[in-house]
Amino acid sequence: MNFTDLQIIEPILEALKAEGYTHPTPIQQQAIPILLNRKDLLGCAQTGTGKTAAFAVPILQHIFQSNLPLKGKRKIKALVITPTRELAIQIADSFTSYGKFTGIKNTVIFGGVKQGSQTRALNQGVDILIATPGRLLDLIQQGYVTLRDIQYFVLDEADQMLDMGFIHDIRKIIAKLPSKRQSLFFSATMPPAIVELSRKILGHHPEKISVKPEQATAEKVEQAVYFVSKKNKPKLLIHLLQTNPVDSVLVFSRTKHGANKIVKILDKADIKSEAIHGNKSQIARQKALGNFKNGLTKVLIATDIAARGIDVEELSLVVNYDLPNISETYVHRIGRTGRAKASGIAISFCASDERAYLRDIQKLINQKIPIIEKHPFLSDDHEKEPSTNSKPTRSIQRHQSSNSNKGGGNNNRQKGNQNYSRRRR
Ligand code: AMP
Repeated sequence: MNFTDLQIIEPILEALKAEGYTHPTPIQQQAIPILLNRKDLLGCAQTGTGKTAAFAVPILQHIFQSNLPLKGKRKIKALVITPTRELAIQIADSFTSYGKFTGIKNTVIFGGVKQGSQTRALNQGVDILIATPGRLLDLIQQGYVTLRDIQYFVLDEADQMLDMGFIHDIRKIIAKLPSKRQSLFFSATMPPAIVELSRKILGHHPEKISVKPEQATAEKVEQAVYFVSKKNKPKLLIHLLQTNPVDSVLVFSRTKHGANKIVKILDKADIKSEAIHGNKSQIARQKALGNFKNGLTKVLIATDIAARGIDVEELSLVVNYDLPNISETYVHRIGRTGRAKASGIAISFCASDERAYLRDIQKLINQKIPIIEKHPFLSDDHEKEPSTNSKPTRSIQRHQSSNSNKGGGNNNRQKGNQNYSRRRR
């Protein structure tokens, strides 16, 4: 199927071509016709599936075809709510890219920064607003935003919204929306609380699509686990980064404090890295993310909230420095390196007190994660873990043999380069 089969108008087709998209992803194939038909949609899908274009393209097309008035201030016709600032910025960038030949304007608002530039953009008039909930309510209260002209409403990453405690804010926002509108609701998981919220927004009869269950992403990513004591995790990380130079590695830490500590430890080993988490100012977070995306920083240390939805092309490797206690988080994390059509590599450090997390994760993804036994920091109690029958996949096997040669040096480096090079299917 091509984008032309989806009845997409020429200015948007041009923009998609400029982005290098040749074929619609499964979620785009399913969602675009439904949304162009002006139906409400309940989508079970996660970031990395091409979800943004699936909702942005129909919204841009509807607005373009509604013949924008050439005079007067633009009214906000579409509202996208998303949980994190980074995701909001990313979605706004996507609207800008896909709509660059349409003349449609968007802006993005989020907390943690001064509101001046945001209110200036709003005062000039925009067609599409992408927002995090708190700042949106704040600017509504101050009179900078009105939702009375909204025709298209998107609630993105609904499960994450609930996890982050945004439910009251969302209820307040919904209450301010016109009842006649097209609504879109996306969530990676559909627990009962999410289904209930979706009914409030969509009514009982939305069109439903479900794309790529979480396991599918996990299957695309080559995974491995290292049993290592908590104390030796820094040494193992340094060892891996030194013996396998990578283009870009995203390291997940469970806590903000832990993320800062990893940066310091790596710094002492002459490995430059930056941290991104909720205690950093928005400007610092954007700068760190920008440096990472541009390749200036090769190692980014992130907490889950800050990394949610981060879209970095050519991400070579994800390291779970700490295993997450919520199994779904593992899938979200490793999905950073298996985006759209690409596959990736994810390795996890597992200390003795994290074994239960590992078992839960393996249950969720229905896979045994191969164990790397040949490494210099293998924890003493690793034998307690029942061994797995599954074999490490090819590139991690190469990685394993490179690690078993503890000498490091040039030879190892070359091997390492191959190990983490990103392959496209
Ligand atoms: P998303 O799920 O919207 O965050 O998209 C994940 C990644 O897939 C982003 O880097 C998009 O630029 C990319 N992408 C989205 N749609 C397509 C497509 N049809 N073909 C190739 N890449 C795409």
